[in-house]
Amino acid sequence: MPDSMPMPMARQFSQAVHVQVPQQADGKPAVHPACASLPAHQCHHALVNKTENDRLARFESSIKRRFDEIVPVLKEVAALGASRDFTEQANRLAEQHLGHPFPEGVLERSWIHGVDVPTLYSSSIFSALAAGVEQFSQRIHQEVADAQSLDALLVDCGFHAINVSACADGRLKGLFTYILRLPASDLLRYSTFAGTLFDVEDDILDWQAAELRRFREGYPSTSDSGTRYLKVAVYHRSSLDPMHQGCAAHQSNEKLAMEAALERLQQFRHGIENAFCCGASTDILLIGLDTDTDAIRIHVPDSHGDLSLFRSVDNAELYKKTLGMNADQARLAIYEAIANVSDVGGWGQGDGKPHDGMRRLIANLLINNLSQIEYVIENFGGWYPDRGHGERFMSIGDGFQELQVRNLSYYAHLDTVEEGAADLDVGVKIFRHLNVEQGLPIPMAINYRYDANVPGHRERIIIKLQRVAAAIQARYSDLLSEGMLYLHGSVQNQKLGSPLEEVPLT
Ligand SMILES: [Zn+2]
Repeated sequence: MPDSMPMPMARQFSQAVHVQVPQQADGKPAVHPACASLPAHQCHHALVNKTENDRLARFESSIKRRFDEIVPVLKEVAALGASRDFTEQANRLAEQHLGHPFPEGVLERSWIHGVDVPTLYSSSIFSALAAGVEQFSQRIHQEVADAQSLDALLVDCGFHAINVSACADGRLKGLFTYILRLPASDLLRYSTFAGTLFDVEDDILDWQAAELRRFREGYPSTSDSGTRYLKVAVYHRSSLDPMHQGCAAHQSNEKLAMEAALERLQQFRHGIENAFCCGASTDILLIGLDTDTDAIRIHVPDSHGDLSLFRSVDNAELYKKTLGMNADQARLAIYEAIANVSDVGGWGQGDGKPHDGMRRLIANLLINNLSQIEYVIENFGGWYPDRGHGERFMSIGDGFQELQVRNLSYYAHLDTVEEGAADLDVGVKIFRHLNVEQGLPIPMAINYRYDANVPGHRERIIIKLQRVAAAIQARYSDLLSEGMLYLHGSVQNQKLGSPLEEVPLT
């Protein structure tokens, strides 16, 4: 169906009419930072891409529904009892609502000990996950086919790679597709760590690979062209409840979250300058996200590329300020806001404006994010109803880069359980509350990517995955023995949009 047609599903998804204005932590009704007329009137900004918003709403709705119908279907299955055609009825329900039958054998054994809900639950989660990845992959192929590539914009702004690290919190899971509206690209890398504490050494290696590729292949720009590698860190905060719903890894202390991300950015930048001397320049960018409204704040570098916690452009304010302008006026006002913030004095004072390409990239990110602010206004009444955690599964390893939907998964990037123990433990703690306390197991999906061009890589990755799975099972043996932990293993070729290949865990 073409995107221009009205979509009943998108309207169903929209809960705006039912939304009550949330209370702030101090008990007062919140005032939306971008659209002050809520809840009486929704705002409509001239620069918002309404068609894309409708498309994304249908997407989010269909992906989440795959997960959220699992428990109601299982309740119905459990209520079927020991009827004569139990297996057929249960599978009919599953096919009708979840799009797949239950795994063979599990239902047949139900007459002995009753319905094995944890196994059916976990297998349904993993099926929903595989279907979701496939759905997103189709979208990615479409993006590539439509040549809606980020590459041209990046190179045009003077960058040959962009490497983004964000917090592992599930509320940031829609960062590219939704919050920043960045399409899939070979030049875009993404990793997440609890508290945005990314691995500086890994990123220096990635920088080296990107520079070598330019030198050897001239891709995406030749080594003498003066383009730069851009490292971005994204921290998060909660405007509604800053003391409790901010970044858990920093005890919801926004200042600590900002400082930690900025410190890693500076370590990365200085690490490269120290090791590779003159001319080995990189750019860094710090972005803050309000997880209640999805509005971003971008810290604008100065002419030396230095950042300040106190020099930033707040996109919710910008939305409000430019509401009512036509598209050209609004675009101009955004460029002015970026230029003006460079003149700020006091603690935020820097030395001049960033280079022209950086200003253009920041403007693009801000304009893209205006659509997301309005997306949350249209579909959720301005603020997300799930203020805190509501993840559906734990994602371990390289993550499912294709699957970009808020609060779908808690992601722990790890190569060994020893290194990733802190991130894993935080995730398990969240899921003990979300799932185990309700009698449901924790579904953990381990996924690693391999490079099909490198002989034997797939086999080595599978061995690594099995080693990680065994270490997780040993670490959480209590949950495992209680039947409250289910693991699923898969590998994927490095190319974005490659199919999931399920692999055995032993
Ligand atoms: Zn966080």
